[in-house]
Amino acid sequence: MSKLRFRVVETAFKKKPVAVEIPKERPSEYFGKYVFNKEKMFRYLSSKVYAKLIDVIDNGAPLDRSIADEVAAGMKKWAIEMGATHYTHWFHPLTEGTAEKHDAFVEHDGKGGMMEEFTGKLLVQQEPDASSFPNGGIRNTFEARGYSAWDPSSPAFIVDDTLCIPTIFIAYTGESLDYKAPLLKALRAVNKAATDVCHYFDPEVKKVNAYLGWEQEYFLVDEGLYAARPDLLMTGRTLMGHEASKNQQLEDHYFGAIPTRVAAFMKELEIEALKLGIPVKTRHNEVAPNQFELAPIYEECNLAVDHNMLIMALMRKIARNHGFRVLLHEKPFKGVNGSGKHNNWSLGTDTGVLLMAPGKTAEENLRFITFIVNTLMAVYRHNGLLKASISSATNAHRLGANEAPPAIISSFLGKQLSQVLAHIEESDKDDLISLSGKQGMKLDIPQIPELLIDNTDRNRTSPFAFTGNRFEFRAVGSEANCASAMIALNSALAEQLTDFKRDVDALIEKGEDKVAAILDVIRRDLKICKPIHFDGNGYSDEWKEEAARRGLDCETSVPVIFDNYLKEDSIAMFEKTGVMTRKELEARNEVKWEMYTKKIQIEARVLGDLAMNHIIPVATQYQTELVDNVYKMNSLFPAEKAAKLSAKNLELIEEIANRTAFIKEHVDAMIEARKVANKLDNERAKAVAYHDYIVPMMEEIRYHIDKLELIVDNQMWTLPKYRELLFIR
Ligand code: ADP
Ligand code: MG
Repeated sequence: MSKLRFRVVETAFKKKPVAVEIPKERPSEYFGKYVFNKEKMFRYLSSKVYAKLIDVIDNGAPLDRSIADEVAAGMKKWAIEMGATHYTHWFHPLTEGTAEKHDAFVEHDGKGGMMEEFTGKLLVQQEPDASSFPNGGIRNTFEARGYSAWDPSSPAFIVDDTLCIPTIFIAYTGESLDYKAPLLKALRAVNKAATDVCHYFDPEVKKVNAYLGWEQEYFLVDEGLYAARPDLLMTGRTLMGHEASKNQQLEDHYFGAIPTRVAAFMKELEIEALKLGIPVKTRHNEVAPNQFELAPIYEECNLAVDHNMLIMALMRKIARNHGFRVLLHEKPFKGVNGSGKHNNWSLGTDTGVLLMAPGKTAEENLRFITFIVNTLMAVYRHNGLLKASISSATNAHRLGANEAPPAIISSFLGKQLSQVLAHIEESDKDDLISLSGKQGMKLDIPQIPELLIDNTDRNRTSPFAFTGNRFEFRAVGSEANCASAMIALNSALAEQLTDFKRDVDALIEKGEDKVAAILDVIRRDLKICKPIHFDGNGYSDEWKEEAARRGLDCETSVPVIFDNYLKEDSIAMFEKTGVMTRKELEARNEVKWEMYTKKIQIEARVLGDLAMNHIIPVATQYQTELVDNVYKMNSLFPAEKAAKLSAKNLELIEEIANRTAFIKEHVDAMIEARKVANKLDNERAKAVAYHDYIVPMMEEIRYHIDKLELIVDNQMWTLPKYRELLFIR
C-alpha cells in the first residue's frame, strides 16, 4: 500500500534541474516582447490614433469609439505576426484567478473561405457566457446579462497563441461583477482627491497615481509528492500531517542558497515574466523550507494588479515544466510559516513626487505629513473594512498564527516618524510656524533623513507598516487578488482626503492662513487616529487586549468580518467616492459568504474521505499487526511474562482503537452538521455555521490523525509526510 509513497519520494529525490533556454538577447531587449506596449502602439497605429490612445492611457481621457477599429486592426496585425491565432477578453471575476474565453481570429470571408478578423467592436465589448460566474444574485435579480469591456489603461499581451485583452466585467445594469471595475473607480477617486490636496502645495499637479509593488510568497512541492496528497490536490493545503521533527527553527533556509531545481524554475519564470512586461527584480528563499518569494519593481496600481494575476498563472504553468507544483495557498502546512503578499503602496504625482516620502524643505515635509496623517485616518476609520478586504477562508489560517500579525489592523510608523508626529501634535501651533519677513514661512518640522529609515527600523509584526517612502500592507493573502485590498485602501483614502480638504478649506474661508489651517486639521486628526498607531509587537497577547481597549476591530470570524462591507460607514464611503453602490456591496458579500462556505465544505469532504479511506484503514492494519504480535507473544511466553512484554503494544492497540473511533464518530457528526448548515437559506448564516461548527470539527479530527501518523508504521503510511513535502526539492 505504501509503495506509491516510497516510489514518489525516491523519484522526487533523484530529480535533476531542467535546463532553461536562455534568450540570446539581453533582458532589456526582450522585456515586453509579448506586450502591445507604447512602442508597438506607435509602430502599428497611425500617429493620430496613437496620440488619442495615449491620452486615454496616460490622462484617463474618455475612449473615442471611432479609434477602436484602427486599434483593433493594429493589435491584430501585431498579434498575428507574433504567431497568435486566438484572442480573449481577460478579466478578474469574483472567484480566484482570471477568466478567459478564447476565440479564433478566423471568420467566414463570405466567399466560402476564412479570413482573420478582429474588429473594434470585438475589442471594446464582449458578452462572455458568464452565467456561471458568481454575481451575488445581481444578474438574476435584475435579469441583466454581463459583458466585458476593454480597459485601455492595461496593455494587451500574448500568452501562448492568444492575444489577451484586459477588461472589466459588468452587468448590463452597470453593476461591477469583477475586481477591476471597482479598482479603476477607486483609483480615479483617489487621484481626484489627492490631486486636490496636492494643490495646497503645488498647483501644477495634474494627476496622482497610486503605486503598488507586491511581494509574492509561495511554496514549491515536487509534483509526484503533490499528486500523492489528495488534500493538496483538491484544496491547496494539507488537511493533516504531523510537523516534521525539524521545520524552520534553524532559520537556515531564509536567504540561503537557492536549490538548483528551484533556481531553474525561477530563471524560466523570470524570463517569461520579463517578456510579458512584468519588471521582476527580486527572488529569494523565504523563512519556511521550500518557501520562496518573488517581487517586481512597483508599478501603477492597476497594472501591478494585472501583473500579479498574470504571474500567479505563469508560476503555476512554469512550475510544471520543472516537476513542481506551486502552492499559493496562505497556509499549506500547519506549524510552518504561511505565505502572504506584501502590498507596498504609495501615491505619486505626475510631477514626479512620491507623496509618502519625506522631502527636503519644510513645505515638502508638511505635504509628506499631510499624506501620512490622512492615510492613518483612512486606515483608522476603516480598519474593520480593510481587514475584511484581505479576509478569506484560506487567509484565516495565516493571520494570527505567529508568523503574521493578528486579525487586527494597526500601523507601524517607526521611531523617527513617530517622533515627528508627536512633535507636531504636542507643540504650540505658533511655535510650529513662524513667519519671518522675506524668508517667508518657516516651519518647525524636524527633518527626516531618508537614509535613516531603513530595514533596521522595520517591524515585521505590523500589518500596515510605514517603510520609508510607502506603506506596506502585509496582511494580504498570497492567493488573493491584490485589487480587493487596493479598492478598500484607495477608496478610504479618497474619502478621507476629501474630508480633510473640506475642513481645511472651511478654516481658510474663515480667514486662517493655509499652512495654519492644514496644521490645525492635522493636529486634530492626529489625536483622532491615535488608536491605529502601534509600534510594538503585533504577535503578543497584550496587543490583542490593548487593541480591544482602543476600539479596533478584533473580530476573528471571517464571515462576520465580511459584515464590515455592509456597515453604514463603509457603504457611505464607497457611495460617496463612486466606487460601489449598496446594491453592489450587498451582492458581493453574498459571493464572499458563498465562497467561504464552499471552501470549507470541500475541505470537510476531502478530510472526511481521507480519514475514512486512508487513515482508518492504515491504522487498523497496523493495529491488526500489533494484535497478531500480542497473540504470538502469548503462545511463546508464559502468560504473566507475555502480558508484561506486550504492555506497550496493548497500549498502542488501545490508542489506535480510541483515536480511530473518535475520527469515525466525528466524521459522521461533521456530515450531519454540514447537512444542517446546508439547509440554512441565507448565505451569511451558512458561512457562519461552517465557521462555528465545521472548522473546529476539522481541527479535532486532524489532531487525532496527526497523532496516528506518529505511531503507525512508517512503511504503511500512504500520504507523503511533511518532512518529504518540505525538504525534497
Ligand atoms: P523588502 O525589504 O520589504 O523586501 P524591497 O526593497 O524588496 O523591500 O521592496 C519591496 C517592494 O516594494 C518592491 O516591489 C518595490 O518596488 C516596492 N516599492 C519600493 N518603493 C515603493 C513605493 N514608493 N511605492 C510602492 N512600492 C514601492
Ligand atoms: Mg517587504
